[in-house]
Amino acid sequence: MNVDLHCHSVASDGLLEPGELVTRAAANHVDMLALTDHDETAGLASARAAAAKHGIHFVDGVEISVTWQGTTIHVVGLRIDPENAELQEGLEAVRGSRAVRAARIGEALERAGIRGSFAGAMAHAGNPATISRTHFARFLVGIGRAPDVRSVFRHYLVKGAPGYVPHQWASLGDAVAWIRASGGVAVLAHPGRYNLGRADRRVLLAEFKGLGGAAIEVVTGSHTPAQFSEFARLAREAGLLASRGSDFHGDAGSRADLGALPPLPGNLRPVWHNW
Ligand code: AMP
Ligand code: MN
Ligand code: MN
Ligand code: MN
Repeated sequence: MNVDLHCHSVASDGLLEPGELVTRAAANHVDMLALTDHDETAGLASARAAAAKHGIHFVDGVEISVTWQGTTIHVVGLRIDPENAELQEGLEAVRGSRAVRAARIGEALERAGIRGSFAGAMAHAGNPATISRTHFARFLVGIGRAPDVRSVFRHYLVKGAPGYVPHQWASLGDAVAWIRASGGVAVLAHPGRYNLGRADRRVLLAEFKGLGGAAIEVVTGSHTPAQFSEFARLAREAGLLASRGSDFHGDAGSRADLGALPPLPGNLRPVWHNW
């Protein structure tokens, strides 16, 4: 079974409409799909309707932005109830903080001699409520500041670069609690992408599990093949379920297309084992 439990639509920083995403998943022979937009559930209803037409098992998802010990961490919620009030209040607060940060990024880039980036990023945002660094990156590529999104991040948007603005996202405990309150399962997204040493990584996994986290992404477009094995081992050691997801955003910047990933390594219990 081809399972893809992580991707983005225009409801956050993806390039495809939810329905287009589902059509592409069907063409790629995906059997089970979760849409996991950043801090947003607005795309779920139309994705679910499209998935029903294609006979795809659809999973309601979200990817919540978290700050843990000064590091930005992403927590995916799967099988959430998008109507849940506690979850929605939490997501609304996180989205609200995105607007404030985006204005600051615009000011920082202005000081670096780049004009109009806030409006420019907004023009790239399908959903202004989830304005993100990706939209700034697409604007900067569009005006010829850099050849591609990846190099914009490196030169303008990461820690130490002129357009970087520190930001406080949700706490890990709150994000997991919102997901669980809505009946969902919390999954630590792409754990190999965080700039953490071995010791901190262990603490993160233990704390996440202690808070009620259920799984980690093992096979993801954000991991190298060596990291598939590394995080398979860590999932087993920590007693966590394993997830698989492309993190597809619809553009060349995405490392994996929908469903186009190796299977989970054996010996792991998939997060979808009883769905
Ligand atoms: P934000 O939540 O606004 O900070 O934006 C984070 C998003 O930016 C991630 O979900 C990725 O889609 C994208 N992103 C982060 N780092 C990079 C990078 N180095 N190259 C390309 N895209 C990136
Ligand atoms: Mn993204
Ligand atoms: Mn992420
Ligand atoms: Mn993602």
